[in-house]
Amino acid sequence: MGIQIHDTMAGEKVEFHPVVPGQVGLYVCGPTVYDHAHLGHARCYVAWDVVVRHLRARELVVKYVRNFTDVDDKIIARAAERGEDPIAMAARFADSFLEDMDAVGCLRPDVAPRVSGSMPGIVDLIGRLVEKGFAYAPGNGDVYYAVRKFPAYGRLARRNLDDLLSGARVDPGESKRDPLDFALWKGAKPGEPAWDSPWGKGRPGWHIECSAMTLEHLGAPFDIHAGGKDLVFPHHSNEIAQSAAAISGRLAPEDFARHWMHNGFVEIDQEKMSKSLGNFFTVKDLLRLHDGEALRLLLLGTHYRHPINFSDGLLGDAERRLGYLYETLEKADRIAEGAALDPVVSPWAEGSRTALDDDFNTAAVLGILAEAFTAANAAADRKGKKTPTDRGALARFALDARSVGAELGILQREAGEALRALRTRAAARRGIDPALVEARIAERAEARRAKDFGRSDAVRDELLALGVVLQDGASGTTWKVE
Ligand SMILES: [Zn+2]
Repeated sequence: MGIQIHDTMAGEKVEFHPVVPGQVGLYVCGPTVYDHAHLGHARCYVAWDVVVRHLRARELVVKYVRNFTDVDDKIIARAAERGEDPIAMAARFADSFLEDMDAVGCLRPDVAPRVSGSMPGIVDLIGRLVEKGFAYAPGNGDVYYAVRKFPAYGRLARRNLDDLLSGARVDPGESKRDPLDFALWKGAKPGEPAWDSPWGKGRPGWHIECSAMTLEHLGAPFDIHAGGKDLVFPHHSNEIAQSAAAISGRLAPEDFARHWMHNGFVEIDQEKMSKSLGNFFTVKDLLRLHDGEALRLLLLGTHYRHPINFSDGLLGDAERRLGYLYETLEKADRIAEGAALDPVVSPWAEGSRTALDDDFNTAAVLGILAEAFTAANAAADRKGKKTPTDRGALARFALDARSVGAELGILQREAGEALRALRTRAAARRGIDPALVEARIAERAEARRAKDFGRSDAVRDELLALGVVLQDGASGTTWKVE
């Protein structure tokens, strides 16, 4: 069947064939860095991270480009409020963004260009559009794109020029010829960062930067252009108009990007996430209390194109779920230690990869993993001595679980370490002091040695009342937070 992707331009799933066999060029619109990353960013970039991981697992050589928008109205306004240099402030938030994306298990892109470092390409592209008659400079330092010159304008968003015209207007102070036209270059205003250009000092509009950076780092045509579904119009529609006009004699959108993919939004308790509704979470807020891998597991539970529902309770559930997955892996590792691996790849692992081939259906893979983990637990807990075949099967389970996990970006930590980290976070959330728990466990062991079972039960009950559950095993007593 090959790999199927949902292409926004085609409006349906299509079979994916790279422009150059074996290689994939992927461009994802990156963040505008004027604040810390929020939950919507985590959702978006985890989705594209799975795409990169799965394509690589299918032995495609992926070049993953994701930009930083570090020159923008919002950045300039925020930096002015704070009395900071806008480019330096943007660099600080870019570092913060990378830290947060690392924490939710995202691979770094191969190239991460910044607008401030891409000016020659941007100015050159605008020059080509002016030269070809697709752009005009009214003489006040601005340059605009003449939308009516591009017949396929609005195709990606399924909107035509007449629909777009209703509602479009020219704001006072703008020097557009047509209300639909958009800025490629904005003449410098006092106090704003500005770069030299043939039209005078100024800075680029938002859309032209992505056209210039894709062409510089991937060339054209390249395979997949991706981003949040809010970017379909106008951002991606404008990118197509600019890029195809500059490079394609026949003005064909597919001469720029072959496929367009878009991810859905995050909803909080069924409402849109927004600062004004007061239901806005930064990634840092969430990861102060919760594990980054748990957040990722929660995000993977919804197909990337669908809206994702988020609540604190769901994140807590995902964290407990992650604990269960690692407990199962730890158990399987312990039983399978030294066993001869069953040589046959599990059918469920093959099924997981087939589900990812089908437009990266991570929700389906988590369902498949759930069944495999239930079965592995049952096999591990079965009474009686384990045969070499039983142990080989559990070794195979653990190997396949980690290999499917690698495509999702989960289950890559050593199980014992992950469980200890999860326990520490859970204890902190409940205000439980791990040192106190350890001291009580030592006390209980002492009571048990002295055959004072009344005392040992009292300690167990005391800890249980705090939410701490003790587990007695061959190598002593461990604990977890319920
Ligand atoms: Zn973009």
